[in-house]
Amino acid sequence: MKQLRSNVIRAGLEAFYLTGAHHLLRPIFAGVGSILMLHHVRPRRDGAFQPNSHLEVRPEFLRAMLAHLRALGIDIVTMDELHRRLTERDFARRFACFTFDDGYRDNRDFALPLMREFDAPFTVYVASDFAQGTGNLWWVALEMVIAKASSVEAEIGGVASRIDTSTLAAKHAAFTRLHDWLRALPSQNDLSREIGRLCARHDIDQAAICTALCMSWDELKPFANEPLVGIGAHTITHCNLAAQPSETASEEMSASRARIENTVQHPVVHFAYPYGDRLAAGRREFALAKSAGFKTAVTTRPGMVFAESAEHLTALPRVSLNGNYQDERILPVLTSGAATAMWNGFRRINAA
Ligand SMILES: [Zn+2]
Repeated sequence: MKQLRSNVIRAGLEAFYLTGAHHLLRPIFAGVGSILMLHHVRPRRDGAFQPNSHLEVRPEFLRAMLAHLRALGIDIVTMDELHRRLTERDFARRFACFTFDDGYRDNRDFALPLMREFDAPFTVYVASDFAQGTGNLWWVALEMVIAKASSVEAEIGGVASRIDTSTLAAKHAAFTRLHDWLRALPSQNDLSREIGRLCARHDIDQAAICTALCMSWDELKPFANEPLVGIGAHTITHCNLAAQPSETASEEMSASRARIENTVQHPVVHFAYPYGDRLAAGRREFALAKSAGFKTAVTTRPGMVFAESAEHLTALPRVSLNGNYQDERILPVLTSGAATAMWNGFRRINAA
């Protein structure tokens, strides 16, 4: 199903750049700006089994996007400046914001030098447990378990299942199945227990994943002092907020913010919802982020920023720079808004 969806999206993007239809849509759907969403920025890794590859782009692709925006004369601005332009209705110039989720060290090592080259500010949303070195990057752990194993056992829906992971195709199918199962578990504790069991059985050092990939507090301090860098919050545990009781969801927002502010010694006023889709962030979470005092909060719902987005500052959509579509020809399609408009059934605002 994921592969099918991926192929449909690819075909849609290709149709736009082959026909040029995105040029016709630009005045209607380009909005006043956009918020670009990235995770990892790093050179391509070896190995055929990379089910999380949508979460990483090569440095050259990021450079191409930066050059494309500069060529179009689009301002690259901070989230504070986005907030100012939206609230003051200053739409004289189109803008783009760069945002990076989770706080990966490659953001410092590969993205920062490129952002400097283009004098482009950006925001990194930090999950405080990730910086603490105790975070659960279960999707990476799952990839490592399946990469290594020839079969995986798990109790799915109360039924003990043995899942074949002996071939590349079987590994991809197993990843989809186990990923969906883990994400649908009722609580963060259930998720931690099940991925913990899989890692223990297949000898994957789960604790090492977090420290290998994420910046520590000691690394975040100097990083946050970089003139182009803004730090936002991304909860404590990287949980699905919509699945938590209200008090827990509020605590995830405010305690992560306090912890980050304590380290970086700057106010943290921007937030990103973990997972950020409809299942993880809806009306209640948008209201909680607002009452927690965040000036903006970003989802992973696809879309451009419109003047009307000023009414939905804690439900902002983003445009994903998806690692599975690293073709420079799609850049004008992404900045035209045509791709996200297609996704939204040609609605401009999707914040309910
Ligand atoms: Zn995240």
